Amino acid sequence: MEVEQNNISVSGAIKSISIFGATGSVGTSTLDLIRLEPHLYNVMVLTANSDAEKLARLAIEFSADLAVIADAQYLPALDKALAGSGISSAGGAEALVKAAQIDSDWTMASIVGCAGLEPILTAVERGKIVALANKESLVSAGALMMAAVHKSGTRLLPVDSEHNALFQCLAGGSLDQVRRLTLTASGGPFRTFSLEEMQNVTPAQAVAHPNWSMGTKISVDSATMMNKGLEYIEAHHLFPVGLEKIEILVHPQSVIHSMVEYIDRSTIAQLGAPDMCIPIASALAWPNRMVTDSAPLNLLDIARLDFEAPDYERFPSLRLAHDAIEQGGACPAILNAVNEVAVGAFLEDRLGFTEIAQLCEKIVTDYNPKTPHNLDDLLAIDAEARSLAFAGIG
Ligand code: NDP
Repeated sequence: MEVEQNNISVSGAIKSISIFGATGSVGTSTLDLIRLEPHLYNVMVLTANSDAEKLARLAIEFSADLAVIADAQYLPALDKALAGSGISSAGGAEALVKAAQIDSDWTMASIVGCAGLEPILTAVERGKIVALANKESLVSAGALMMAAVHKSGTRLLPVDSEHNALFQCLAGGSLDQVRRLTLTASGGPFRTFSLEEMQNVTPAQAVAHPNWSMGTKISVDSATMMNKGLEYIEAHHLFPVGLEKIEILVHPQSVIHSMVEYIDRSTIAQLGAPDMCIPIASALAWPNRMVTDSAPLNLLDIARLDFEAPDYERFPSLRLAHDAIEQGGACPAILNAVNEVAVGAFLEDRLGFTEIAQLCEKIVTDYNPKTPHNLDDLLAIDAEARSLAFAGIG
């Protein structure tokens, strides 16, 4: 099958691949899929932050051209682990951006946090395919990122399971025919906890998601439901139907990953086992489909699907995200930056679970910079919000 999408040619030929965040949960699942049919892919770039040993192991296994470690202090360890392999290496944030200029056909953006923003923007500017897992960049710099996507003609393929579900449900439809986009949410491990019970939860409890296996930051975000708030903002940028047409529905079984209701009242949902390999496979094989090892969906075993309205009082992060995108300007970037710092502090036992949203609310309220107009403005706001957050934690 040969399909032309702007300047993107998608055929059965070998795809060259870059994976930013190759050592993480999404990066590892992407490489698991590549292992299923390695002859179809040429891995050019793999990156990590500090896990030099895993990065080197993966780079050698997949015969990558280049391995980049974002935290340059780990470059000697990477070089040692790559010795004799012939694989090039580099270290530091600038090296990450340079690696994003390498002209691979398909880039997985799976760095966690706003640290992924500059490499993703660079990859987007090349106008090829970018599979987007990194929601924080889009939350923080949605307008900039979407403008770059439209300018370059890049195909941005959502990998977040909900947005990937919407993308699939929208195939054959168009945004002006949409009445409602429903993002489903598992509700996380504390769906039934009272606010008092939530005050005492530990990092170990928060990262134990009932349905999904994910990195620590997104697991904590799922527990506070900030993840769903970030996804609400992400959906607004990816599928601009108007905020009033995007809703959140708690669905504890995580079987329906999201739905689109059209103007004729037809609702199309995407279902599957809660396994990130499924949405990643959809992006990796796009516009085709590929065989995966994922478990089949057995509705007889699941037997029932439940739904609840989200609780904005017990999960104030949802309200904060709604308010931030409604207010616009710098608010989403500030919310995202403070949340990243707060989640890090919670994981290190320096901040209570319910204090994550409290800190976000305080700094989004107190800090009122001018609307960012370019990347430099945005990075300055992100940095200032982080230092206010660190000061607030003490
Ligand atoms: P992980 O924490 O498992 O992995 C993060 C990856 O990013 C690792 O490769 C890590 O390297 C690298 N990294 C971390 N910090 C930096 C930095 N400062 N600079 C450069 N690289 C860095 O995260 P996940 O895979 O869970 O999530 C990745 C992204 O995908 C997040 O934005 C998340 O919200 C999104 N996502 C994740 C899903 C999931 O199921 N996990 C589902 C949907 C979206 P190292 O290993 O060296 O630390």
